[in-house]
Amino acid sequence: MYGDMLDLYGDSGNMEIIQYRCRMRGIDCTVDGYSLGSEIPDLSKYDLIYIGGGADLEQQHISADLLRCRDSIKAAYESGVFLFLICGGYQLMFKYYRDADGNDIPGLGLFDYCTVAPSSRKMRCISNIVVRTHFTGKEVDIVGFENHGGQTQGVRTPLGEVLFGNGNCSRSKYEGYFEKNVIATYMHGPCLSKNPEISDYMISYCLKRHGSDDELAPLDDRLENECRQVMLDRLLKK
Ligand code: GLN
Repeated sequence: MYGDMLDLYGDSGNMEIIQYRCRMRGIDCTVDGYSLGSEIPDLSKYDLIYIGGGADLEQQHISADLLRCRDSIKAAYESGVFLFLICGGYQLMFKYYRDADGNDIPGLGLFDYCTVAPSSRKMRCISNIVVRTHFTGKEVDIVGFENHGGQTQGVRTPLGEVLFGNGNCSRSKYEGYFEKNVIATYMHGPCLSKNPEISDYMISYCLKRHGSDDELAPLDDRLENECRQVMLDRLLKK
């Protein structure tokens, strides 16, 4: 949704990666875009809803439209459709995002948190980031890049533990938000390019909803893993 407005650091590349990983396995995958002011789609018919990151200004521009889609997004989420959310999109699932000027940008209130940016625009969380996760059932360190003013406090089900960078707020121990059908993160990158486990978790989840319990065919992820390893070595090795 809003891929033409919430596309910070090439975030919409995330959807190209999902499509690529499906195509390589012969899995049908259609991506439809929703833009501001379009007819509200029945989102429950989809497998996954994706919203990327954006600056405060873009968040202000889409907020009213997003509220217009609230019932459709909420019904989809409650019926098990996967939500994948990056940074600005993540913040707008909360009750509100208070930007650096003190304006409350209303969010959908799907999750019981809010995000507040400090009044100084210089106080931003800008860093490469490494997060230790267990959402696959195994320990996986994921990497990305964060650039947010917003401070999200008190998330009880984070995506993972911060090994390098900030996470949900300045020098936080934790990053993102996780439920079995939600991955929300401050990681740009695009996030999926160096973290194939996230794509495959979401693809498997969607296939399971369609009754398939087959293991996903492995792909050649050498390049992705090497890119990630370069970052892990650079950031974690003293
Ligand atoms: N505008 C929001 C913030 O600064 C989100 C930024 C983003 O998506 N990177 O916190």
